[in-house]
Amino acid sequence: MRDLLNALRCPICHGPVLNVGGVYSCDVDGDFLSSQNQPVLVNFDSSILDRDEFIARASASPVRRRRHHQVLRRILKGANKAAARLADRMRAQLAPGARVLVVGGAVKGSGSDNLYAGDLEIVGLDIYPTALTQVVADAHEIPFVDETFDAVWLQAVLEHVLDPAVVVSEVHRVLKPRGLIFADTPFMQPVHEAAYDFTRFTRSGHRWLFRQFEEIEHGATAGAGTALLWSIRYFVRAVTGSRLAAALCSAPVFWLRFFDRDTQRHRDAASGFYFFGRKTGSALSPREMADYYDQAPQRPGQP
Ligand SMILES: [Zn+2]
Repeated sequence: MRDLLNALRCPICHGPVLNVGGVYSCDVDGDFLSSQNQPVLVNFDSSILDRDEFIARASASPVRRRRHHQVLRRILKGANKAAARLADRMRAQLAPGARVLVVGGAVKGSGSDNLYAGDLEIVGLDIYPTALTQVVADAHEIPFVDETFDAVWLQAVLEHVLDPAVVVSEVHRVLKPRGLIFADTPFMQPVHEAAYDFTRFTRSGHRWLFRQFEEIEHGATAGAGTALLWSIRYFVRAVTGSRLAAALCSAPVFWLRFFDRDTQRHRDAASGFYFFGRKTGSALSPREMADYYDQAPQRPGQP
């Protein structure tokens, strides 16, 4: 964190952040809150986060997570194989000690273990602190100076922010030239995390969101089978109002997700898409978007 201090910037005035005796501050805006010894670099005047509420909930997540959530998720969604493969691919392309920002990094995303397994410097940012975060912040105003990171990991985050385009442009700003980006965002998924779920993206919409980046690879994280499975579960929940009934009715058809394929046929109904790319000087033009719809996912080693 000592090295990282020089890379921090105030989310309000964009000036440097100081740490005097464990108190983080800015010359213009005064002292910041801290939580679990991590600076809370949030501009509460422009954030969905409320300062008083943040203090009151004593650094817990604002989203109540149910205990069965992770188990059910494993049955109904399976492991995120694309994320696991791209965590490996990202690591292979980075030098030892390369600095990687994990936005929404309070918990490890499905399949992201391999990112943490190597010798990268992982910097976790989230709206509440855990042992995996170094800074509490709102991703609309990432509190780091330009070109701080060699890569950014953005898994299952963009649906939970109010303005994804602003977050992506912040990610672009804090990435070094030729820095890598991995983003995994839902398409055909019902609302999850309650009040903190705002947006979905088609495959083309997701590409356009990352138009400032050169694409290395894109695809579906889960296909139409997973989407149907989730729909059945949420259909039962909508009709009965019972989460238990929803789980009991959908669990026996968990095999629907074995129909998932990352192919063109799934592009209109996939559960979610990922984008793996690089920051370059070039940007995608609007005219390229019509052709993008017919561009099949490409895997390394595929013709
Ligand atoms: Zn300031």
